[in-house]
Amino acid sequence: MPEQELATIAEVEDKRKDGQLVGFRCANDHTFVSPVRACPKCGTREIENVELPEQGTVVTFTIQNVASEEFMNETPFAWAIIELADGSRVTGWVPFVGSEDDLSIGDEVAFEPTYKPGVMFEKV
Ligand SMILES: [Zn+2]
Repeated sequence: MPEQELATIAEVEDKRKDGQLVGFRCANDHTFVSPVRACPKCGTREIENVELPEQGTVVTFTIQNVASEEFMNETPFAWAIIELADGSRVTGWVPFVGSEDDLSIGDEVAFEPTYKPGVMFEKV
């Protein structure tokens, strides 16, 4: 794996605001949307920036009725694990989910740029 300067969270957020879903992947194929310097799953420091597919399906989720200040106007929403089209799994949030009638495991979602933190997906 070639050595490269890893993107900072600010650079990652800028790219996401421009509509590009970027993340981080270790040499053993573990994928993250938050910057990591060592892989929390396998410990390797071989990490590179990757462009991720923007389509995925909901693996599991939990409904958040109480959230940090940055998400105060967004509650309730779903905090979800999304399996992307390439099989990698990332965490993100889905707005306007107040009950299990609003979102289901297996629903198709797509990345949507937002000024909010984290990675937002919407149902497609
Ligand atoms: Zn790893």
